[in-house]
Amino acid sequence: MTESEESSSVMPGTSQGAVEALTGLDAETLNMMLETIRDVVRDAISDERLLQLDHDDECPVDMVRDMCGDKLGIQLLFIPEEYGGMGGATIDVYRVCQEMASLDLGIATSVLATFLGSDPIFFGATPEQKSQWLTEMAERGVLYAYGATEPEAGSDLGALKTTATPVLTDGKVSGYRLNGRKQWISNGGIADKYTILASAPDGPSWFVLDRGTEGFTQNRPEDKHGIRLSNTAALFLDDVFVPVGNLVGDVEGQGLIQAQKVFGYTRVMVATFGLGAGWAALDRAIQYSTTRIQGGAPLSEKQGYTHKLIVPNVVRLEAARAFIESVATRIDAGEGVDGALNTEGAIAKYLATEAGPPTPRSRPTADTGTPASTWWRRSDGTSASPRSTKAHPRSWR
Ligand SMILES: Cc1cc2nc3c(=O)[nH]c(=O)nc-3n(C[C@H](O)[C@H](O)[C@H](O)COP(=O)(O)OP(=O)(O)OC[C@H]3O[C@@H](n4cnc5c(N)ncnc54)[C@H](O)[C@@H]3O)c2cc1C
Repeated sequence: MTESEESSSVMPGTSQGAVEALTGLDAETLNMMLETIRDVVRDAISDERLLQLDHDDECPVDMVRDMCGDKLGIQLLFIPEEYGGMGGATIDVYRVCQEMASLDLGIATSVLATFLGSDPIFFGATPEQKSQWLTEMAERGVLYAYGATEPEAGSDLGALKTTATPVLTDGKVSGYRLNGRKQWISNGGIADKYTILASAPDGPSWFVLDRGTEGFTQNRPEDKHGIRLSNTAALFLDDVFVPVGNLVGDVEGQGLIQAQKVFGYTRVMVATFGLGAGWAALDRAIQYSTTRIQGGAPLSEKQGYTHKLIVPNVVRLEAARAFIESVATRIDAGEGVDGALNTEGAIAKYLATEAGPPTPRSRPTADTGTPASTWWRRSDGTSASPRSTKAHPRSWR
């Protein structure tokens, strides 16, 4: 096994090979993190502010930076201990993502996106590159974005058109010129660093790119139907120079393999978004049903209400939770090597994101105020107009 093959089989939170089981956080640390998100973050941003940001299609960048920086340090969960992180396991990540999603899907997406953006490094970088980029992420809370999708390359990433042309100095490759366009990139307009998938002579490869590099520009954010607090933007690469040291793993042609390695894991994370948002809406609907009097009694005492609008959603969400936990546990036990549980991750994502949306939709129409469910409806109660024609909350891999 070459050094790059060896390093590319390492899972987040481990310092050895992917077959090593992930132990993750102890219960006390995990609970402390969950409580912090619940209390500190909720206190810092009111429902009214969330609804306003949703209405304005605005990402609260300062808050995302606080969450991924000194103040909360959520990024540490994803970073192996040897690089200054906490080495969280998939099961920890699921709990934290669920908590964030129950607050707001856009904020959760921004935090998840910075982790996703650094995935090619976790799975593909050389030990030296990991030490440089992951330590920097742990210490300085550098925000990342993951640049894979293009206007004509979404599900089929092999169709990508962005190119990486080698630049020779004294007959040796000293860097690459990137040319192309990326589409619907979470954190696209706010990240400090970007991982960009581009076609090099030996095949698709990941490159780490700094914001502000000459020729690299970002579009204004998409006006999306939902998850409106997350910044989703197109990226333009016009003859952008990246030094050879920024080729992830130091070997060309590993990009699609590296991308495939993460989907079991990242799909579980997206699944937790459906779970977190679905439960947040349900909690509010249940609370509301105890106070809303119809025909002389609260809705919560009427079986026509509970058996149609509450119980089926609880059942669907809890079934999704059980499957998420089973996949997360298997990944942590080392079964997910090289994307072996990608299909299970997709099933978890499908189950949970299908279970989530009907929950707020079937709640009573009166105002229960549900920032988490702004995923599906705007705060003024209308559906968003489809100005960004392809953007869809559930299509994020
Ligand atoms: C909010 C949001 C955030 C995103 N963030 C990121 C990000 O951070 N980084 C990034 O790289 N990308 C990101 N994306 C892009 C996302 O990953 C793509 O939208 C996704 O990969 C699907 O690609 P597409 O939109 O081009 O759809 P298409 O590939 O055009 O697919 C359209 C439809 O056709 C179906 N389909 C496609 N191929 C087949 C097939 N072979 N057989 C049957 N059905 C098929 C799909 O399931 C889908 O329903 C984001 C998207 C959204 C909406």
